[in-house]
Amino acid sequence: MIGKTREYPKEIMILETIVRRFPPDDFRKAEFEKKLYRKRAGYKGEKTLDYFLAQIDHSEMLILHDLRIPINSTHFQIDTLLITINFLLIIDSKNYTGTLIFLPEFNQLIRILNDIEEVFPDPILQTKIQASQLKTFLEKHHLTPSPIEYLVAISNTQALIKNPTNDKEVSYRVFRSSNVAFKLPPFYQKHTQPRLSKNDMKKIARHLVKAHEPFVPDPKSMNLPFDNMVQGVQCPACEAFGMDYHQGKWTCISCGHKSADAHIQALRDYFLIYGPSITSKQFREFMNVGSPSTAKRLLSSMDLTFDGTTKGRTYFPEKNFFD
Ligand SMILES: [Zn+2]
Repeated sequence: MIGKTREYPKEIMILETIVRRFPPDDFRKAEFEKKLYRKRAGYKGEKTLDYFLAQIDHSEMLILHDLRIPINSTHFQIDTLLITINFLLIIDSKNYTGTLIFLPEFNQLIRILNDIEEVFPDPILQTKIQASQLKTFLEKHHLTPSPIEYLVAISNTQALIKNPTNDKEVSYRVFRSSNVAFKLPPFYQKHTQPRLSKNDMKKIARHLVKAHEPFVPDPKSMNLPFDNMVQGVQCPACEAFGMDYHQGKWTCISCGHKSADAHIQALRDYFLIYGPSITSKQFREFMNVGSPSTAKRLLSSMDLTFDGTTKGRTYFPEKNFFD
C-alpha cells in the first residue's frame, strides 16, 4: 500500500519559473539552469525507482515516498521508506550517470564522466545517517522499535557501477533500481521476527506524514534580478512572452496562436517567484491587461480566494492551483 505519494517538488517548479523568466542576457541564468537540470535528474531517478517498486507485491507493506522530517533544528530526507512487519527499509535513489566508483574506505564515491573525475558524498553513508535519524525520531515519539535497513538505488541505466575493493557493504547495499524486487528477500531472511502489528505500521506512517515539511525555497533569498525578470503571458505554442488579451482570448504577438487560459500558467509563475498573493493592480501590470474589469473577470475565473473589498482585493491561490 502506498502511504504517501510523491509530489512534483515545489523547488523544481520554482526553478523552472526562474529559468523561464530570467533575463536572457544575464550570465547567471546558466547557474539556475544547471541547478534545475540536477534537481530534475534526481526527481527522475526517484520516479524510476517508484516504477519498479510499484510492480512488486506491496500489499503487506506501507510505502512512503518523499519525506522531509524536522529533527534537532535541521531536517532529514528519505526518498522512499518501506514499512514492513519485520523491518523498516530506507531506499535512496541516485540518478548519476557515468562511471561510479565506490571507495568505502574513505566514504567516497568517484564519478568519471567525459574524462572529468568528481568526488560525491558516499551515498551508503548518507543513507546510514538517515537510518540513525529515523531511529531517533521513532524513539522520540515512543514508536515501536524495529530494525532499520537501508539501500542505495542507482536509477540511471547509463551508469557503470564499480566496486574495486570488492567491498561487501557496497554489493549488499547498492543496486540497480530495476532489481529492487530481488533486494527485499534477503532482509526478510535476516529479520525473521515480526516486530510491528498492522496498527503499529500505520501509526509510524501517520507520525511521519504528519511531521513531513516539504522543502519550499524562498526566491527572495536567491538574489534574483526581480526588476528585470520577464513579465507577461507566455505563448504555449512558441514560448514567446507578451500575449495580448482581446475579446476573451490571448493572442501571441509572435506566432498568432490563440489561447483562452494562458494567464493561468503566468499567474502560477507570479505566485512562485513573487510570493503568495497578488492584487488586481499587480495582476494587470504583470499580465499587461489594461482594463480593471477584464482583470477582475480573469481573476474570478480561477481557483483563488481573496481578502478585502471589491476595490482593494488581494487574491491567493487555492491549494490545487498548482496541480
Ligand atoms: Zn506564439
